[in-house]
Amino acid sequence: SFGDTEAQREVRENDRNHVFHSWSAQGQINPLPVAKGEGARFWDYDGKEYLDFSSQLVNLNLGHQHPGLVKAIQEQAGRLATIQPSFANDVRGELAKRVVEHSFDGARSVFFTNGGADANEYAVRMARHHTGRQKVLARYRSYHGSTATAITLTGEPRRWTNGTLDSGVVHFSGPYQYRSAFYAETPEQETERALAHLEQTIQFEGPNTIAAIILETVTGTNGVLVPPPGYLPGVRALCDKYGIVMILDEVMVGFGRTGQWFAYQGFDVRPDLVTFAKGVNSGYVPLGGVVISEQIHDTFADRPFPGGLTYSGHPLACASGVATFDIFEEEGILERVRDLGERVVAPRLAQFAEKHPSVGEFRGTGLFWSLDLVVDRETREPLVPFNAAGDAAAPMNAVTGACKDAGLWPFTHFNRLQIAPPLVIAEEDLVKGLDIIDAALDVADGYYTG
Ligand code: PLP
Repeated sequence: SFGDTEAQREVRENDRNHVFHSWSAQGQINPLPVAKGEGARFWDYDGKEYLDFSSQLVNLNLGHQHPGLVKAIQEQAGRLATIQPSFANDVRGELAKRVVEHSFDGARSVFFTNGGADANEYAVRMARHHTGRQKVLARYRSYHGSTATAITLTGEPRRWTNGTLDSGVVHFSGPYQYRSAFYAETPEQETERALAHLEQTIQFEGPNTIAAIILETVTGTNGVLVPPPGYLPGVRALCDKYGIVMILDEVMVGFGRTGQWFAYQGFDVRPDLVTFAKGVNSGYVPLGGVVISEQIHDTFADRPFPGGLTYSGHPLACASGVATFDIFEEEGILERVRDLGERVVAPRLAQFAEKHPSVGEFRGTGLFWSLDLVVDRETREPLVPFNAAGDAAAPMNAVTGACKDAGLWPFTHFNRLQIAPPLVIAEEDLVKGLDIIDAALDVADGYYTG
């Protein structure tokens, strides 16, 4: 607890001696020991408070220690803590039913996984067996997870040294008008040209060889890229034309981040498979899954699905998933996300863009936003280069440091400061966090050369 320097020393020492951390050079990190979390806040052992504008890894949608989630897990632990997946179980079935009921027309069933990467892994496997084809198209500027197929699907540097594990994956460019791959000047042009590029890719690769196209509905870590009007329906039309399965990765944006149950519900599109994780139970117990269409479900009606997991549909995870649905309804989460996004965040970011030259563009929806920071608005040169590390990353490190010093835990990626607080954040805390970002942008402005 706070002020216990002995406890803090031990946490730090055990971590440094024995915990091997994700994505890190083990000798170059110094993880912050966290003593406690509540709602949108957490504290270190010195009692320093952080407002979490990253929702941990954009999974903590209902905040730390939500009483409804804690109670559901405690009750389930007292009843039946685990049961293997070949049995029928009440909370597993209840959660599958609720997910399907809140999904697209024609959704039939859910395959539960341990997280997001394996959800994508299994979605691709289903698409391959369903179509009898092997290739999968995925976008640049994407993250789909770190297991063999998922890391190969990933369209950013984390794939570079890992991404030969699935030889069937081919990448293409999606819409991102601010840094358009298509020299587009309007959203309409961006949509039209991005779709033409995708169709060309399909033809060059051979339509009859392509099992699936996978996309993050709203690209998350790689920039909060909201698809322009017509893009997702256009991808759907191409999937229909060539018999390709459409997989939407909703691991980061599902369960309320954009103010919808699933983000695709804001874009007039019907997928065939949807992957989810994170927000389904705010990460209190590891859980992910694939929502499966009737057609794909039927492929495995008389033919076994070749895949499985010991913890598929774990009762503690599913109980907290069921509670998530109840809490969303009781607390009007989707309505408050839309309201706070439109009324509080968007106008404030528009002010930042007026006031701070380093804000090249802001974009987003719901409680999911990104500030694309630049050193020159004319050239749009980013505040730090793509994949910057070491000294090259210093300007972003200075911005991040200013946020942390002021008590805000930010979510940054390359040259972008992204905003993804818990969906339960109090309005005054949201404003307080935005005030801290406002001040941190003065630091970014210090590097402006335009
Ligand atoms: N897909 C997306 C869009 C993600 O953002 C992530 C994680 O950040 C994943 C998949 C991988 O999920 P997990 O880390 O649970 O395997």
